[in-house]
Amino acid sequence: MSLPTYDWKNTKGTSNRFCKCGSWKNHWLKFSGKSWPEKCSVLHCCNIATLGAHIINNDDNVSGEYIAPFCDSCNKLDDKFDLKSNTIVVSANIKETCEK
Ligand SMILES: [Zn+2]
Ligand SMILES: [Zn+2]
Repeated sequence: MSLPTYDWKNTKGTSNRFCKCGSWKNHWLKFSGKSWPEKCSVLHCCNIATLGAHIINNDDNVSGEYIAPFCDSCNKLDDKFDLKSNTIVVSANIKETCEK
């Protein structure tokens, strides 16, 4: 199953969350197996991706939270946003990833 690119939102209050990977950027790198993208994952955003953002989607087919490469300003968006079509997200559930 592939995840939708539309209607994502930031999860609020994640700044105090940590995992074994040291940063959520490292978490994304480890579990995507990809190199860090140059640009933010948000559609039409051309800023440099600097961090791994926690995002959620209310679509019935999507459960849990995910990490995607974002710029600082998109990490603060309150409204819904769409992702670029080639965006790779990884599960933010540490019990399914780094603490499995
Ligand atoms: Zn991790
Ligand atoms: Zn951005």
